[in-house]
Amino acid sequence: MGSKDRYHWQTQNVKVSGVDDMVLLSKINDDAIVDNLKKRYMDDYIFTYIGPVLISVNPFKQLPYFTDKEIELYQGAAQYENPPHVYALADNMYRNMLIDAENQCVIISGESGAGKTVAAKYIMTYVSKVSGGGPKVQHVKDIILQSNPLLEAFGNAKTVRNNNSSRFGKYFEIQFSRGGEPDGGKISNFLLEKSRVVSQNQGERSFHIFYQLLEGASPEHRENLGIASPDYYYYLNQSGTYRVEDMNDKQEFSETMNAMAVVGLSAEEQSTVLQIVAGILHLGNLSFQESGNYAVVESEDFLAFPAYLLGVDQERLKEKLTSRTMDSKWGGKSESIAVTMNTEQASFTRNALAKALYSRLFDFLVDAINKAIEKEHEEFNIGVLDIYGFEIFQQNGFEQFCINFVNEKLQQIFIELTLKAEQEEYVQEGIRWTPIEYFNNKVVCDLIESKANPLGIMCILDDVCATMHAKGEGADQTLLQKLQSQIGTHEHFNSWNKGFIVHHYAGKVSYDVNGFCERNRDVLFNDLIELMQSSEFPFIQDLFPENPNAEKKGRPTTASNKIKKQANDLVGTLMKCTPHYIRCVKPNETKRPRDWEESRVKHQVEYLGLRENIRVRRAGYAYRRLFRKFLHRYAILTRETWPEWRGDEKQGVLHLLRSVHMDRDQFQLGKSKVFIKAPESLFLLEEMRERK
Ligand code: ATP
Ligand code: MG
Repeated sequence: MGSKDRYHWQTQNVKVSGVDDMVLLSKINDDAIVDNLKKRYMDDYIFTYIGPVLISVNPFKQLPYFTDKEIELYQGAAQYENPPHVYALADNMYRNMLIDAENQCVIISGESGAGKTVAAKYIMTYVSKVSGGGPKVQHVKDIILQSNPLLEAFGNAKTVRNNNSSRFGKYFEIQFSRGGEPDGGKISNFLLEKSRVVSQNQGERSFHIFYQLLEGASPEHRENLGIASPDYYYYLNQSGTYRVEDMNDKQEFSETMNAMAVVGLSAEEQSTVLQIVAGILHLGNLSFQESGNYAVVESEDFLAFPAYLLGVDQERLKEKLTSRTMDSKWGGKSESIAVTMNTEQASFTRNALAKALYSRLFDFLVDAINKAIEKEHEEFNIGVLDIYGFEIFQQNGFEQFCINFVNEKLQQIFIELTLKAEQEEYVQEGIRWTPIEYFNNKVVCDLIESKANPLGIMCILDDVCATMHAKGEGADQTLLQKLQSQIGTHEHFNSWNKGFIVHHYAGKVSYDVNGFCERNRDVLFNDLIELMQSSEFPFIQDLFPENPNAEKKGRPTTASNKIKKQANDLVGTLMKCTPHYIRCVKPNETKRPRDWEESRVKHQVEYLGLRENIRVRRAGYAYRRLFRKFLHRYAILTRETWPEWRGDEKQGVLHLLRSVHMDRDQFQLGKSKVFIKAPESLFLLEEMRERK
């Protein structure tokens, strides 16, 4: 890289108002932080540091500094050399992984539409560009990058908050060889918001793939799949929104198809995937009417397409949507009888089938990607966590509750690792230091997930579900009563006539309790499983591998149970890595560039805990390393430490720091680690090391 480039950036940077690293702010309060972010934002500098934490403010326009030139500029450069950038963070992760031989992860948080997914993609692109590798590695890189358009097509949708909102969470581990080549990977996905398949709020859409298919299908497909305009399908026409500004569904369709091919889906698999997508739309067009006391399909002509596309018998489809098999015990004998449904139950069953098909299809795609990049022995990895952001809508249901719970857990990790752990480490290492107050949201996590004393919301919900009537009538009201009586006095909980309010770290959210029990229970009738297993397409059969007649032991797993487990597993994984953070800020609700809503930004600055973050950082020490690792890295700086220091490690570090004349108030030696105050002191060491 030319030093001229660096110079150019730096001079440009000098002109910028505000500070690069908010640790350097002269006054630390929320207004000063907001003001600094605003000055930078208005000058098109969206990135700012708090020490190693990267703050990113969504510019809602393409900025010029994401080209190959910057990728080159940030490679191997120290943090202070260039303006803050997501590439600097990515580079730091990559180098750390190689130098320290430790797994790294980046936790990207922020509310819906703040820019998490975009940041995640920049990281993946950066890592793929700066790492080497032959054709085989290139293939893995292609799959890693192409997994984005594929999973976005099936897992993202337009919401009122974000035109490309992730409706699932994912943790993407990029695995590396010892030489630093990405030669494998693994995606873990979390709770897809499958209810979106059957209905959306006003102004929102279902998952992108539906509209992509309708716009982009070839003439042959149009006929075979029964493609019409989106308003023809009940599953798409309830929200009255079909298009997204600046999104070309037709073009994205070809990108999605290309991605499927790169990921390794055969031509046959690709067409079955499309067939299922179309099949779901046609299934949605089946409506029911009351005849006598039970439901019948309103217009039987509509049965032909879904039956054909899903490869099942038309009569059987009809039967399974309007009746279900129940075991009845009579005189000691058990026998199966078909019970008819009313129209509401029939619609519910149809929707359950559509949701199950879609979410299983989504899991299939994730599995396909995983198989294509699976690696036998894992060496190092860099994990990128991009989940759905905290959200508050007019109406918030079970999905929002789960999404916000996961965000609550991530905030908890941030607190544990940056605020709490930092302060505890000082105590443990015997470092002199003044503690900083902060809000610990563990109390909110407990309110939701606690297993005892008092029971958390999720456990109470599970209890209600376990005892609820098959039809589930009245269960939601029972839930509300139980919540009120068991945790009604909790300081982060209130109830209201339709549900309950949780005081999340990011704000109060009113949840409408309607549908909580049904969605939590999330059972798929055996009849539907058997129906899908009778499909003539092996692909569809394979989506339903369970044995419907198997004896079920204990309580069935509920949706909240699953998300709780996933969230806690995730926390476990993240805690084992060296963590990095990107805190995304959304500057407005209009999605327009240069629009700055002061109060919204201030609210985020408050709940993200940026002020506390700066305080802890300032009062504390920017850098810490185990004596051994420190000695190893800077061994070259003195004759006595090169190639190896013989003797007490702490003495070695002291010797090293004295030899380079580091100010005595710039560092402290703890029990096992050296702590260095200002990043600048460390930069000096790095420079000396490079000059050697
Ligand atoms: P959700 O939680 O809903 O998934 P998110 O935080 O992932 O939200 P993104 O999808 O990353 O949000 O960003 C929303 C939109 O904002 C993007 O589609 C893009 O238009 C714009 N955007 C975000 N970051 C940038 C950026 N760095 N440069 C340009 N535009 C951006
Ligand atoms: Mg996203």
